[in-house]
Amino acid sequence: MIKVSKLSKKFGDLAVLKDINLQLNKGDIVVIIGPSGTGKSTLLRCLNYLEAPTTGVIEIGDVVIDAVSHTQKQVTALRKQSSFVFQNYSLFANKTALENVAESLITVWKVPKQEALSTAKAILTKVGLGDKLDVYPSQLSGGQQQRVGIARSMAAKGEVILFDEPTSALDPEWVDEVLAVMKQLAIEKQTMIVVTHEMQFAKEVADHVIFMEGGYIIEQGPPKQIFENPEHERTQAFVKRAL
Ligand code: ADP
Ligand code: MG
Repeated sequence: MIKVSKLSKKFGDLAVLKDINLQLNKGDIVVIIGPSGTGKSTLLRCLNYLEAPTTGVIEIGDVVIDAVSHTQKQVTALRKQSSFVFQNYSLFANKTALENVAESLITVWKVPKQEALSTAKAILTKVGLGDKLDVYPSQLSGGQQQRVGIARSMAAKGEVILFDEPTSALDPEWVDEVLAVMKQLAIEKQTMIVVTHEMQFAKEVADHVIFMEGGYIIEQGPPKQIFENPEHERTQAFVKRAL
């Protein structure tokens, strides 16, 4: 359902992603680990063309897009296939929790406003924020804001949710409630790609773990392989430090 072939990304002369190939099926939970500055965020951003890759083909659902010959129409179609959960939540400060979640339904999917609000309410209730519908982000804790961020990405109706270190900016006391929402999504077979330093989450929840370093996928496989029996010495060194 998602296939990335020979993806590369340069910023000027700096090659940040090199020959990235990956494939996942509907319902897969993929976790990407690796040192910082390795290209993990750039890879996620390329997957929905927040950054245009330099070369490579991305297929998500029925959209196929080649970096060297893409059209704006393809980019628009690709963006509908995924949604982002950012480290810093990136909520609209001047919109309530309910409005934040309903936004993409109204603007992207052209769902009538009342219907969008009712869907958004159901999703917020699901992530445990049914009593915070009319509250603005500044009045919510970090954990609550990130749960709004996840609710917003659930509402976006894409094939895949891309999480970029969703718990890294949180005070430790809020991490578990956010991971719990993500685990619930995993149980429901929501396809997701998660960049995280939460190794326990990766071990428990991932179907597939990707270790990146220096812009390359060094090794990928089931969590058992990556964490207990990594083949590559770079993976061994990282896992040993991280666990
Ligand atoms: P990670 O998420 O693994 O920490 P990033 O994808 O954020 O890594 O960054 C990978 C490399 O790309 C870093 O060297 C970073 O400085 C560089 N980089 C990221 N975004 C840009 C940009 N917009 N312009 C120039 N360099 C960038
Ligand atoms: Mg990053």
